[in-house]
Amino acid sequence: MTSAPPDLDRLRPAGGKRSGKRDFIVNTFLRQEGHLSADDLVDLIRREDHRISRATVYRTLQWMVDAGIARKVDFGEGRFRFEHSYRHPRHFHLICKSCNQSSEFLSSDIEALIEEIATARNFAARQSVLQIYGECEDCRLGRRAAPINGATTELLFARDALRIAIATERSGLDFYTRAAGLTKDPRGRTVFQKLAAEEREHLGTLEKRYRDLIAGDPDLESRPTFLFFKGAASGLFAEGAKQLRGGVNDQQALLIGIRCERGSHKFFKKYGERFEDSEGKQVFLEFADEERTHLDLLMREYRALRERQARKPARRGASRRAAKRR
Ligand SMILES: [Zn+2]
Ligand SMILES: [Zn+2]
Repeated sequence: MTSAPPDLDRLRPAGGKRSGKRDFIVNTFLRQEGHLSADDLVDLIRREDHRISRATVYRTLQWMVDAGIARKVDFGEGRFRFEHSYRHPRHFHLICKSCNQSSEFLSSDIEALIEEIATARNFAARQSVLQIYGECEDCRLGRRAAPINGATTELLFARDALRIAIATERSGLDFYTRAAGLTKDPRGRTVFQKLAAEEREHLGTLEKRYRDLIAGDPDLESRPTFLFFKGAASGLFAEGAKQLRGGVNDQQALLIGIRCERGSHKFFKKYGERFEDSEGKQVFLEFADEERTHLDLLMREYRALRERQARKPARRGASRRAAKRR
């Protein structure tokens, strides 16, 4: 899977002139992978066209940062490096001090913690940088490092987003199958059965998408994890399924379902919206929509159940209490 280059005209800041040199520098940068220093880029450019000056390359790099095509990263080497931001998810870095390779990861748990701290201190956070320095596995074991490139990060992102969505579908399917089994009200049972059938179908679609992705790069499955989403990895419905096992009535089962769907919808929407345009983002946003539909269906059913219960004649216990009061 290769991503189309960004629309440079759209990204060009107001007043920016068309320039063949600049387009050449931008396209060369976008073909590179990983984290380049300005001098790395100068070397690459001048190998192709020695008439382009160092100053032009520097200026173009800064322009790319301003236009949101490139991100500046500081690995503590006394100079900046640059990476694509186009279709490249925001992330944190693990940096090896022996081979200078950096590898990327993202964690919802770390992001949530940073948000929590900033909120507690009334701090308007704009950007957070997390860098972990040390020695990579390849260096420690004396292996030759296989560089992880930018294109791969995008694929890892899509892979992990699909894995999380699949885990959620599986736990959702388990949840609705159980709920259908224990619901006594026939209408409620039909709703849970319908949702179970939908989860099964979506699970099939996601699994196919996952297989297609892996087929494009057989090494993809064994590459290190990019997305660390602790709560979501085990499936956002796992907790709800556990509660069902404790024995609940129809109304409680619906409420647990509503809570799970709402949590799942919020989670996928929140992270989907934060990601840069990519397949991983798409997976999350589509999934958020699906959860929203399920949530609406469950809430409608919950209200209908409450209304049916309210219409039922007062039970004997209730009328006896009422009689006493008279
Ligand atoms: Zn290393
Ligand atoms: Zn990076």
